[in-house]
Amino acid sequence: ALDGRLAGGLVAGATGGKIPLGLRRKTMRILVTGGAGFVGSHLVDQLIGSGHSVIVVDNFFTGRKENLAQHFGNPRFELIRHDVVEPLLLEVDQIYHLACPASPTNVVGTLNMLGLAKRVGARFLLTSTSEVYGDPLQHPQVETYWGNVNPIGVRSCYDEGKRTAETLTMDYHRAAALEVRIARIFNTYGPRMCIDDGRVVSNFVAQALRKEPLTVYGDGKQTRSFQYVSDLVQGLIKLMEGEHVGPFNLGNPGEFTMLELAQVVQETIDPNAKIEFRRNTEDDPHKRKPDIAKAKELLGWEPTVTLRRGLPLMVSDFRRRIFGDHAGDGT
Ligand code: NAD
Ligand code: UDP
Ligand code: UDP
Repeated sequence: ALDGRLAGGLVAGATGGKIPLGLRRKTMRILVTGGAGFVGSHLVDQLIGSGHSVIVVDNFFTGRKENLAQHFGNPRFELIRHDVVEPLLLEVDQIYHLACPASPTNVVGTLNMLGLAKRVGARFLLTSTSEVYGDPLQHPQVETYWGNVNPIGVRSCYDEGKRTAETLTMDYHRAAALEVRIARIFNTYGPRMCIDDGRVVSNFVAQALRKEPLTVYGDGKQTRSFQYVSDLVQGLIKLMEGEHVGPFNLGNPGEFTMLELAQVVQETIDPNAKIEFRRNTEDDPHKRKPDIAKAKELLGWEPTVTLRRGLPLMVSDFRRRIFGDHAGDGT
């Protein structure tokens, strides 16, 4: 592992020079925190598929072992039950930091993983969020926008936790010459998403499959931009492997109101699904859409899967998980 670290991290850090991809060791040892979760498990699939050795650290707070069952027994795969709030000693070349306990422990977990990256000279990628823009006064959101977050609101624990995580990441970059990357992820959906965690796409899909009304909060005119998980995973890997720190918006610019989303879910699953309006939560951002010009130009990345193409892929997975393997189409 040492030669990999030298080629991938320490030398580049110490000289400040940029080592071309071709000269880096091709297979690395990579830590994915939160790798048993929705995004993390898809990322692990891709990294293992590329021949890397992957260590997943997860406390199974929202993640599930089943998301990684396909890798059990693979000598290049290791799963450790651990809370990143506790210090951790490992030797790795890269760290994808996805574990995200509810803030403020989010901050402590990020600090520990930065400390680990510093000790071993690993490159560190933070999965931040579009929530750092809060209820944005700029539309679409560009990375240079500083955001509009209510520091004492009901959502601020998550938002401010990620903003602090970004700050820490940049401080380690500046003070310890750590190689870092920051992704600001916009709403992402796909197979293995938590069925009952209350996010809008998982709610609507599960509701339509269960023949329950789709719950639209507020007037349903607020917008979000929905990205399919495989596009995100490609973006995360391009960001990690590229030469730019970021932050980079990683999201699909296709913008939908919640009523439009409900309509796409109806078209995909059940045209007769009813809609039920519910009170919205406080401080709900009115609109959100990424400007991805920077990622396009510097990472050569852009999403390719539209909502209408990605949603059915998620629906088959939800169908199987809700009704079991042999439940037909669940109607
Ligand atoms: P997820 O909940 O499925 O995955 C998070 C994983 O981290 C889970 O497996 C969980 O068990 C694990 N975890 C939580 N606290 C931990 C701790 N203290 N120690 C170790 N493991 C811990 O969520 P996801 O959607 O896959 O999100 C992954 C990352 O991407 C998160 O950092 C999240 O903030 C970020 N993100 C996701 C979205 C999205 O739309 N899915 C949008 C913006 C940002
Ligand atoms: N840390 C860790 N694993 C390591 C190195 C550090 O979990 O391999 C933790 C460490 O316990 C500390 C945090 O990361 O809480 C920050 O470490 P750093 O060395 O940057 O700060 P210091 O310990 O000097 O305050
Ligand atoms: N939402 C909704 N019905 C639901 C769940 C969420 O209308 O059952 C709305 C919510 O008010 C918000 C949007 O969908 O405006 C996205 O919510 P989500 O929690 O998925 O993501 P975030 O708000 O973090 O972007």
